[in-house]
Amino acid sequence: MCIYPGETSTMPDTTERRSFHSYEYLCIKRFQEDVLAKQENTNEETYELWSFVKKLLETMKDLHVSKASGLQGIFWKFRFDKRIATDLWYLAVALDKCPHTLLEFLKFELTKDKCHLGTPLSRYLSRHQFQEIHLDGIFKFYDRSSLPLEIFKCDTVEVLSLKSNSLTSLPPDIGRLTNLRVLCLTDNCLQNASIPFTLTFCKNLTHLYLDNNLLDALPGFLLSMPQLDTVYRHGNHNYFKSTFMWYHSDIHARIRSTSTRDEVLRKQKKLHQPSRLQDLAVQSVIASKENFFEPGLFPGPLVDYIAREYNQYHVCHYCNSAEPLDRSGYKVFTFKTPYLGNTCVPFQHWACSYQCAEDIERPAHAEQRSDSAQLELAYAAYISEVQCTGRPRNQRRKRGKCALM
Ligand SMILES: [Zn+2]
Repeated sequence: MCIYPGETSTMPDTTERRSFHSYEYLCIKRFQEDVLAKQENTNEETYELWSFVKKLLETMKDLHVSKASGLQGIFWKFRFDKRIATDLWYLAVALDKCPHTLLEFLKFELTKDKCHLGTPLSRYLSRHQFQEIHLDGIFKFYDRSSLPLEIFKCDTVEVLSLKSNSLTSLPPDIGRLTNLRVLCLTDNCLQNASIPFTLTFCKNLTHLYLDNNLLDALPGFLLSMPQLDTVYRHGNHNYFKSTFMWYHSDIHARIRSTSTRDEVLRKQKKLHQPSRLQDLAVQSVIASKENFFEPGLFPGPLVDYIAREYNQYHVCHYCNSAEPLDRSGYKVFTFKTPYLGNTCVPFQHWACSYQCAEDIERPAHAEQRSDSAQLELAYAAYISEVQCTGRPRNQRRKRGKCALM
């Protein structure tokens, strides 16, 4: 869909693989803030910056030649003249890396008397149909900002990188990205419950990076994603280590109650506040574990509402009941032996009752014992072979091949 009509000759080749970068996002975010400030008459001055940048770019007859002579240099000149604020480093990078795109964006956005649907960011993403989004390090430590949900509506995205953002949760909207192949969440503050089940809706996801987070096990639903080829989990070691304490324990030790004082408060509140029909409907959609992002299933605003409410519920791994977050339940730890090249990996599931917890744990425990017995047999056979021949089978083969040559 063409969002910016009338733009043709100066456009870069849009058939090439396109990536959306942090500096572009920061520019558009700042632009949005300045538009808002202007609408609220709180800061007229900052908005004028963008008209200035547009004029600057328009005066460059050939942006390729101008770029060679140093658009960044011009930026720094105006920076030192105090016509551009000190914190706009990302504008300097955008002037250098994508002057055409920036000019095209400003030409359209600064056109008066036009009714623009959505946000500037959604228009920008929709126009360029990016295959890769790299938003690494866009939030500072303790920054309360949340990820822009517009990026999850960009359904052409195959690679999404959100490294080093101090993220404490991943929006359920991740499930909208049906073409996603690689998701990089390295260096964040994610815990087990902060990765939503909707990730399983990404049927093409093969590479998941969860290294350097605060996970004490991998989310149990990853076991129902057979297309996953690689799951990076390094850097969660201290947390995983504490979970491995239960490797040799019996079933009951691996089921941990999550009862909280909040539940008593919730029950007291409920006496005066019955559930709304709307909430009950959302609860049942979430409990179905069906992909509610599927086009045509629900109207758009309703999908947005379900996605907004999604993180307010736990879903039982066994019976699929969806329960409010403050309701008590059980954390269940299971071990998969082996899992994607690792000898043994712990997983965590949520169960609504002790019975459900046992029904998850018993078959998983039996499978773990059977798989680890097979691994031990294979390992014993390997040791015995090495002791007899002095080298493992694969090395012997290589030597044999060399001898034949
Ligand atoms: Zn249950």
